[in-house]
Amino acid sequence: MNDELLNATAESAELDMMMLIIKSFLEHLEYTLGKDKYSATRHDLFNALAYAVRDRMVERWLDTQQAYYNDDPKRVYYLSMEFLMGRTLENSLVNLGLLDNFREAMNSLGYDLDDIMNQEQDAGLGNGGLGRLAACFLDSMATMGIPAYGYGIRYEYGIFRQNIVDGAQVEIPDNWLRYRNPWEMDRQEHLHVIKFNGRVVERKDGEANSIFDWIDTDDVMAMAYDTPIPGYGTNTVNTMRLWTAKSTREFDLTFFNEGNYIRAVEKKMMTENISKVLYPADHVPEGKELRFKQEYFLASATLHDVIYRFRKMHDDLRLLPDKVAIQLNDTHPALAIPEMMRLLLDHFRLDWQTAWDITTRTFAYTNHTILPEALEKWPIWFFEQILPRHLQLIYEINDRFLAEVRSRFPGDIGKLERMSLIEEHWERKVRMANLAIVGSHSVNGVAALHTEILKESVFRDFYEMYPERFNNKTNGITQRRWLKGANPGQAALIGKAIGEGWVTDLYQLQQLRPLIDDPAFVAEWREVKRQNKQRLAEYIRKHNCIEVNIDSMFDCQVKRIHEYKRQLLNILHVITLYNRIKENPAVDQVPRTIIFSGKAAPAYYLAKLIVRLINAVGETVNGDPAVGDRLKVVFLANYGVSLAEKIFPAADLSEQISTAGTEASGTGNMKFALNGALTIGTLDGANIEIMEEVGRENIFIFGMNAGEVEELRRKGYVPRDYYNRNAELKKGLNMIAEGTFSPTNRELFRPIVDTLLNQGDYYMLLADYASYIACQEEVSALYLNQDEWARRAILNCAGIGKFSSDRTIADYAREIWGVERMEIHPVLEYRQSAAAE
Ligand SMILES: *Cc1c(COP(=O)(O)O)cnc(C)c1O
Repeated sequence: MNDELLNATAESAELDMMMLIIKSFLEHLEYTLGKDKYSATRHDLFNALAYAVRDRMVERWLDTQQAYYNDDPKRVYYLSMEFLMGRTLENSLVNLGLLDNFREAMNSLGYDLDDIMNQEQDAGLGNGGLGRLAACFLDSMATMGIPAYGYGIRYEYGIFRQNIVDGAQVEIPDNWLRYRNPWEMDRQEHLHVIKFNGRVVERKDGEANSIFDWIDTDDVMAMAYDTPIPGYGTNTVNTMRLWTAKSTREFDLTFFNEGNYIRAVEKKMMTENISKVLYPADHVPEGKELRFKQEYFLASATLHDVIYRFRKMHDDLRLLPDKVAIQLNDTHPALAIPEMMRLLLDHFRLDWQTAWDITTRTFAYTNHTILPEALEKWPIWFFEQILPRHLQLIYEINDRFLAEVRSRFPGDIGKLERMSLIEEHWERKVRMANLAIVGSHSVNGVAALHTEILKESVFRDFYEMYPERFNNKTNGITQRRWLKGANPGQAALIGKAIGEGWVTDLYQLQQLRPLIDDPAFVAEWREVKRQNKQRLAEYIRKHNCIEVNIDSMFDCQVKRIHEYKRQLLNILHVITLYNRIKENPAVDQVPRTIIFSGKAAPAYYLAKLIVRLINAVGETVNGDPAVGDRLKVVFLANYGVSLAEKIFPAADLSEQISTAGTEASGTGNMKFALNGALTIGTLDGANIEIMEEVGRENIFIFGMNAGEVEELRRKGYVPRDYYNRNAELKKGLNMIAEGTFSPTNRELFRPIVDTLLNQGDYYMLLADYASYIACQEEVSALYLNQDEWARRAILNCAGIGKFSSDRTIADYAREIWGVERMEIHPVLEYRQSAAAE
C-alpha cells in the first residue's frame, strides 16, 4: 500500500472508532439509563460514557481471565484493607489509548469531556499512602502483564469528605455509591460463608486423630464485586475484587420465623454493617471490634476464593505455593495466615507440618510503619469471642515458634518475651506483626532506610533469627496517572522531546538531562508550570476566595495531617516569614504561596488542632495589608486523589519534612519530583533515595539524620533549650501560645505549644527549626533565578525513573513472588464462532 492509502486507512479506522464511541454512548444513555439528550443530567452523561468505556475493556478482560484459566500461571493476590483509586474514567482512557478519540467524539456531540470527567466521584477506599500504593500497584501489574488480583472490601462509605468550617475540620460521610458505580460488576454467584463467634469442639476420627469443629457460629455472606483494571497499551485487564457483607438466607428465615419482624431486620442490618465504612485513621490502629471483623472478613473471603480457584485445576494443595503468592499490605489482612492454617488442617485434613510449610511459602508481608503505636495488637478476648479456633491455632503456632527460638538462643528470656506472638501485659494481646513475620517467607520494608531500621531495631530479634526473610522494596508511583493523566502539558512536552517510551519505562526520563542546556526547552518547561499554576490559582480563587500571585513560589505540603509529618514545622516557617515582614515592612522577600492540604483522623485531637492553626495563621496573614502578595497561606479542603492531581503539577516546592526515621517511604515526594517540583526534605524514607537519584545539588536537605535523632533522644533532648536560644522561634511559639492567631479564644492553641515545650516535643521540631529556616533561605535565593530553578526541576524529573511502581512491581515479582509476565492475545476467533452458533 502507498502512503496515501495507509493514511486513508488509518483515518477511516479513527472514524470507525469515533462512530463506535458515539453509538455506544448514545445507546447507554437511552437503554441503560433511560434518558435522552433533553432529560440527561451531567451525571447521566458521565455514566453513559463510563459504560461506553467499560465496554471497550470487557472483551480484553474476558480474554485475560480466560488466558489465566487456560495457561494456569502463578498468580499474585494483593490483599489490602485499602484501595485509594480516585477516579477511573480518565485513567481508563489513558491506558486504553482512547483519550483523544473520546474527546473528539464528545466534542462532535457538543459535550466537553473534561466537564463530564469532573462528574465522577473519587473511589476513596483508603486513608493515604498505603491505599494509594495498592492502587498504583494494580496499574503497574496490569501494565506489565502480571497475573494479579487486588482483594479488598467494598466499603459503602469511603474516607470522609472534609469541610472546613470556621477554620476547623468537619467530617461529612462519603456516600460514594449513591449515584451508582458504573465500573463494578456484582458477582452474585461468588459467595462465601464467613463465620464468627461460636465455639470449638474436639472429636476423634477413626484413627484417633483430633478433629476440631467450629460450631454455633454467626454466619455472614461475602459477595464479590469486580472492577476491571486495564493495563497501559496491552490487552491485559486484571481484576480488583471487593467483598460486600450480606446476611445469609438461613439467617433471614430463622429470625423472621420467630415473629419479631423489626428485630429480624435489625439483626440483618447488623451483619451487613461489616462492609459499611472505612476506618478513617492513618498510622493509628483503632482497637474496635468492627474493624477486627472487617479484617477477618477480607482474609477469610479471599482465601476461600483463592483456594477455590486453585482447586479447579489442582487436587494437591502442596502445590499451592507454586501457583499462588499472597502479599499482605501491612498486618491488616494478616488473619489470612491462621485462616489458611484452619482451612488446610480442619477442612482439608493436612498435617501440621505440611500445612505450615504451604502457608509460609505462600505468604509475604509488607511493613509500612515503625511508629510503635501504629503496630496492630488485638486483645485476646476478641479472639476468644469472635475467632476461637484461630486463637487455638495462634497459640499452637506460638508454642512451636518459641520452641525454635529457645533452641536457637538458649536462656534468652528477653528474646522469648519480645518475640512471642502474645503480649502478656495486663490485657493480653496478639501481636499481628509478629504473626505476619513468623507466617511469611518474606518481610519487606518500603524504602532502604526503613528496611534498615526494621532490621536493626523494630524487628531486630526476628532479623537475627530469619535474616533471609528481610528485604527492601522501595515504593513507587504510576506515571500513567501521576504524569500522563494529571499533567498533560508536561507529558506532551516530554513526549515531543524524547518520545513516549517513558510511559512504560520511566528510566527513559534520563534523556531529559541534556535538555537543561536548551533554552527553548527550559522556556517551554516554565510555561507549562505557569499554566498549571494558573489553573490551581483559579481553583483556589473559587474554593478559598483567595487571590494568589502565580509568580509566587507554590510551596506545598499535602498529605495526612500527623505530628510526625510536621506540618507544624512548616507553619512555624510561615509565622517566621510573617514576623520578618511585620518587623521590616519593606523587606524584600521572595513571594510564597504556602499550600496545605490533608485530612486529620476524626479522633486525633492534636492533628485537628493543627488544621485549625493553619487556617488561623492563614486568616491573620492573608488579611494583613502589610503583607501584600509576598505571603499567602492556603488550606485546600478535602485532600484526595483528584485534588492531588491538581496540586502536584502546579507545585514549585515539595515539603517532605518528617522527623528522620519516622516516614517509612512517602510517595507524595515522588509525585512532586516527577511533576517538576524541587524538594525540601529531611534524610528520611525515600527522600534519601530521591537525593541519590536526582543528585545532592538538586535537592534541599536539612535537619538531623535518623542516627542523630536517635542519639539526641538517648542523650536527653530538652526542647526548651532550643526555644531559649532562638529569638525567632521563641517569638513564633509565644504568638501561638498567647492567642495572636485566636484573638477570640486566646487559649485555643496552647496545647500545641505545650506538646512542644512541656511534653518533650517527641518529633523534635525545635531541634530542626534553625536548620529548616536556613534551608528555606537557600530555596528562596534559588527561586530568584527562574531559569536555574527550572533546570533543577528538569533534573528532578529526569532522575525520578527509579520511583515508577513498575520498577517496584518488577522487584516484587522477581524477588518475592516468582511470577512471570504473560502476554494476552485477543481471542477473536472464539468470540466470532461463539456468536455464529
Ligand atoms: C500520594 C498520596 C498520599 C501519600 O502522600 P505522602 O506524602 O507520601 O504521605 C496520600 N494521599 C493521597 C491522596 C495521595 O495521592
